[in-house]
Amino acid sequence: MARGRATLHATSMGRKKTAANEPEFDCVTCGACCCNRDQNREIDYDEYVEVLKKDKINKHPELIKKLTFTNAKGEVHMRLVGVNQRCCALSGRLGESVSCDIYEVRPGVCRLVKAGDEECRKARIERGIDEQPEPKRAKRQGSSRRA
Ligand code: SF4
Ligand code: SF4
Repeated sequence: MARGRATLHATSMGRKKTAANEPEFDCVTCGACCCNRDQNREIDYDEYVEVLKKDKINKHPELIKKLTFTNAKGEVHMRLVGVNQRCCALSGRLGESVSCDIYEVRPGVCRLVKAGDEECRKARIERGIDEQPEPKRAKRQGSSRRA
């Protein structure tokens, strides 16, 4: 199970043009990937957005103190808040208008998810911003099952 945000995003505050039948992946009206993922919530795992030693935010001890927590192993993560378990640096209304309060010094893992990529799409569905797509019909294989 992928945990944490090693594979995650966020808010590169980008916008991806999409095909006519797709949603527009506009980060400033979203914020989904700044919220803990469902698979983490299921096991009460809140170490979602890790802050690595090389991250610029470490040059701002006041931000580290205010916005992060350190686990038993000494690893630092962004605090999550509220029912949506959103990163505490995320301002605004999810799915309407959001921004990252520390955009210039946001952790490196926040830069991994790109608008419209697989993680982005999953996060948006989990937070109810997009609907679950219809399951694709299985392709015909050219053979039939007979008794
Ligand atoms: S889930 Fe996608 S569209 Fe939403 S903020 Fe993250 S990258 Fe942007
Ligand atoms: S630090 Fe900014 S970009 Fe990263 S999860 Fe928090 S609000 Fe999103």
